[in-house]
Amino acid sequence: MNVRFCLSCGTELEMRDFDGTLRPACPVCTFVHWGHYSIGVGAILVREGKVLLVRRAQDPGKGYWTNPGGYIEQKELIHDTIVREVREETGVEATVRSMIALRDQPRDIHNVYIAFAMDYVSGDPVPDGVEVDGAGFYSMEEMESMKVASFTRWLIHAALEAKSDGLLQDREPIVPLDGYGLFRG
Ligand SMILES: [Zn+2]
Repeated sequence: MNVRFCLSCGTELEMRDFDGTLRPACPVCTFVHWGHYSIGVGAILVREGKVLLVRRAQDPGKGYWTNPGGYIEQKELIHDTIVREVREETGVEATVRSMIALRDQPRDIHNVYIAFAMDYVSGDPVPDGVEVDGAGFYSMEEMESMKVASFTRWLIHAALEAKSDGLLQDREPIVPLDGYGLFRG
């Protein structure tokens, strides 16, 4: 995937050397095309030993059960995104406890997926009927006969067999750091 024109002013880009790497850059304004990236977030929400799962109504993965999740927005903190995605897909209210796993996938659009352990607050799972057509809490036993996506199985294992608490949200950093989402071990 090549970018030929400046996304800001429309001028044809030129190749410029940045510390030994040639990147498309605008000769007129400050725009530099650093690459194609996307970031996904996912929730592992365990309630009384059962995991919140949704059945995908759309490709990719149509018909598979996965954990709730989605792609981040430009100006939304990622831990707000995952709270919103869980609410939108299932109607369940939950809060973020920690960051428990990460998947890196370098490809044409370099994808990073960040998984959160979440705590149940309220609501019974109801699928949104658009992105997902099934939603519920399921035990490991029930999941054995369900079409659960491999990556979701990995995330559930990572959450249930975690060797640490993961990175916890830092709501009161030792110095003022306004506007950041902060997680630390
Ligand atoms: Zn430009």
